[in-house]
Amino acid sequence: MAGPPQSTPSVLIARRLLPAGRERLAAECEIREGGLDAAPERLRELAPGVAAIVADPTVTVDGGLLDAAGERLQVVANFAVGYDGIDLESCRRRGVAVTNTPDVLTNATAELALALTLAAARRTTDAEADLRAGRWTGWDPGAHLGLELSGATFAVVGLGRIGRRYAELVRPAAGEILYVARRPKPDAERELRATRVKLEDALRRAHVVSLHAPATPETRNMIGSAELAAMRPEAVLINTARGSLVDSAALAAALREGGIASAGLDVYEDEPAVPAELLEAPRCVLLPHIGSATRRARDAMASMVADNVLAVLRGEEPPNRVV
Ligand code: NAP
Repeated sequence: MAGPPQSTPSVLIARRLLPAGRERLAAECEIREGGLDAAPERLRELAPGVAAIVADPTVTVDGGLLDAAGERLQVVANFAVGYDGIDLESCRRRGVAVTNTPDVLTNATAELALALTLAAARRTTDAEADLRAGRWTGWDPGAHLGLELSGATFAVVGLGRIGRRYAELVRPAAGEILYVARRPKPDAERELRATRVKLEDALRRAHVVSLHAPATPETRNMIGSAELAAMRPEAVLINTARGSLVDSAALAAALREGGIASAGLDVYEDEPAVPAELLEAPRCVLLPHIGSATRRARDAMASMVADNVLAVLRGEEPPNRVV
């Protein structure tokens, strides 16, 4: 069978794109796929001559991959909203557009943060593990005591799309809602009765601290040992943003020593590696980066990736341009 004509653009799907996006790209482009375990060297082998790269949160798009792709590259379309794995400056210099998938995963990720909040506050992972291991010997008035969320003070760090949706979801149960942001959000203050505070105040006052800021040099280790020490001993820390926001060794120590009550994490600095100290830490709910993992969100994200790639290849403005 003859290969695609020379004018057919090639797209490198670095790992895997769901059919909702892949089929639309395949109708107009030659597809090269790295697969779920594609190593950086394999991606560089596949990249020469592609017009588009579809990345995801686990893929590093650096100068090496951009060089390997070469001058035909027009767009790096991220199958995620967080684009910290992409060297934006190198893309900008080369005139390569960068796009992401905002909004369509906001509900899914905020709902997962809520699930982690409930699970960590009520220590459901430990309780279930005890039951499954046959350690449950009967109703025990003092076992698995957790934090009640009704009336609790919540602190949302990063009141963007997901942080705001999380605040909306907890609003009916919450007492105070505090938020930490670089700029004030008057709408949220009005509609959610949220109060802007500095990080130190948020940590000192909140029963639940939920992180929703992007991974940037500024947010790196924004929760370290000093910040954990400032938190209430009955407090719960939730991270569905990025692993780099939290110093995992400091968090594990705070959990071991009772500095905070519990944590719920969906993200880690060096995924899929999970720091051993967190695996061993008590009262810690650990999920494998499933924030956006609903059928609806992932299909919409995949379709959005196709919209962005196809727009750039047609010479149009992509709907979700970051660069
Ligand atoms: P977004 O709308 O851009 O919200 C991020 C917010 O963080 C912005 O409002 C920004 O506020 C704020 N921010 C930035 N730097 C900050 C700082 N130093 N201190 C406090 N706030 C700061 O993004 P989003 O769609 O809500 O997504 C948020 C993040 O969630 C993504 O970057 C991604 O890493 C993560 N995420 C994870 C999953 C998952 O599967 N677990 C899924 C989706 C997203 P201002 O610029 O207004 O100050």
